[in-house]
Amino acid sequence: MEFSEFADQASDVEAATADGDIVDLVADLFAAAGDDLPIVARYVQGRVFPGHDETKLDVGPSNCYEAIARAAGQNVDADDVESTVADLGDVGRVAASYDFGSQQGLAAFGGGSDDGLTVAAVHDELETLAAASGTGSTDEKVTILFGLFNRCNPDEARYLARLVLSEMRIGVGAGTVRDAIDEAFDVPADAVGRALQVSNDYGLVAETARDDPAGLGDITLEMGRPVQAMLAQAGTANDALEEWGETACETKYDGARVQIHIDDDVEIYSRNMEDVTDPLPDVVAAVEGSIDVPAILDGEVLAVDDAGDPLPFQAVLRRFRRKHDVERARDEIELQLVVFDCLYADGRELVDASLLDRRERLEEIWDGTLAEFSLADDAEAIADLEAEALAAGHEGIMLKNPESAYTPGRRGKNWLKRKPDVETLDLVVTGAEWGEGRRASFLGTYELSVSTPDGFETVGKVATGITDEELARLSDLVESKILTEDGQTVDVEPSVVFEVGYEEIQESPTYSSGYALRFPRFVSVREDKSPEDADSLERVERLVQKQG
Ligand code: AMP
Repeated sequence: MEFSEFADQASDVEAATADGDIVDLVADLFAAAGDDLPIVARYVQGRVFPGHDETKLDVGPSNCYEAIARAAGQNVDADDVESTVADLGDVGRVAASYDFGSQQGLAAFGGGSDDGLTVAAVHDELETLAAASGTGSTDEKVTILFGLFNRCNPDEARYLARLVLSEMRIGVGAGTVRDAIDEAFDVPADAVGRALQVSNDYGLVAETARDDPAGLGDITLEMGRPVQAMLAQAGTANDALEEWGETACETKYDGARVQIHIDDDVEIYSRNMEDVTDPLPDVVAAVEGSIDVPAILDGEVLAVDDAGDPLPFQAVLRRFRRKHDVERARDEIELQLVVFDCLYADGRELVDASLLDRRERLEEIWDGTLAEFSLADDAEAIADLEAEALAAGHEGIMLKNPESAYTPGRRGKNWLKRKPDVETLDLVVTGAEWGEGRRASFLGTYELSVSTPDGFETVGKVATGITDEELARLSDLVESKILTEDGQTVDVEPSVVFEVGYEEIQESPTYSSGYALRFPRFVSVREDKSPEDADSLERVERLVQKQG
């Protein structure tokens, strides 16, 4: 494929706004890519190499500006390019604004814009550029880039510059590529999604989908090819219990994520899939002593002090980044590996197995430290587990769906980082407002108060969280207590107590208590409570202090 064809299509994709149009255009590009499909499937996302491949271009903005300036001619230097990029905010636009190919060095590089640069040729050059290392390699990289820019027309230059700096910005992410592969080669979306998850290689999956669709199922985890880690969302114990019933609770360790591939050798990858085996010889040794079957494990490495108590996670990062004096660093900062998941064990891929099955397998094969794990089916038990984890100096707990598969790279709802449930308040209804329109015959907004030694003071009004059926019932209940009416607003005798949720409590002059609930939401009527039992101003003050 000509590089100009890629650039033209990228430009159409950039101009498109509807998601469907973007997928159509990317699918057309894939269908036309021929042998260059694997490269194109990455380039549209601004990736030069596969996600699991550690090869890096190692070209910073200043090298790229230097190459652009050289290609642009004698009147332009890297500072000019830099300041124009600062003005326009887009290196692509700047690169496209120069007339490349009319200066010295032309003869050596083929010369002239639009001279038939192909995608394959660009990629060859970028591979050579990535391979340059050692003394003089920066110059070599800039020279190679200069040669490429020199052969570019404006659109090609636009996308080459963005590609090199990993900022493609044409609105194509992983999901678009997956959908475009489906569309271009008419293969099932699930099969593509799964193959992408286990290989982390868009080029391989695109090519297989086109040439051998049945082969998508054969793409599996491979030793030495890290996949993206499964990720978590924030959620409450109630979210977990409502969604799954019985919930798996694990201690959340404050360290750095690792994926460990165990075959003849042990390889350790960081969360960004960088190979961190060399800086972590002690972790490698711990792995070697704890397992004797091939496996891919997921876990956390934490730093501990002499007493074995966890240290802040910055200490771990120092070890991960260490290139020299690894032995000294090892003596200074002791690391501990805690394993919590297993993607593959002794010939069997486990990503589709349930968390419970994976955990069972892990317990069979792993003799080292395992994450604290238990099942809980009520909020109190979860709170206890959290208290234990915190008391042991850990970050808290993770809540996991016991039946869920391992989904690499997904920030799904099956793993939740526990965030505390907001405590509800029981508040007295001291006023109300008639509704409007369809709700004009109902009291729809309720004024809420806390109790104080001198009576009731207001903290807010609630109108959300009330269903149509509840509205009629609440309205009847409160209407019978009306003392005075003034237009739409009524004062009511303190009698009914509402349980109310909220996101935050703020200091506020709007209400007589001096506080206001943010985003209050009706939860229930506390039939069992009289106004005297309602929450006090003192409790509100305590909650405000707890919020910090
Ligand atoms: P966060 O970085 O706050 O999004 O939390 C997710 C991270 O917690 C993961 O990427 C892991 O590095 C870490 N973590 C610690 N303990 C666990 C555990 N038991 N299960 C999953 N992730 C854990």
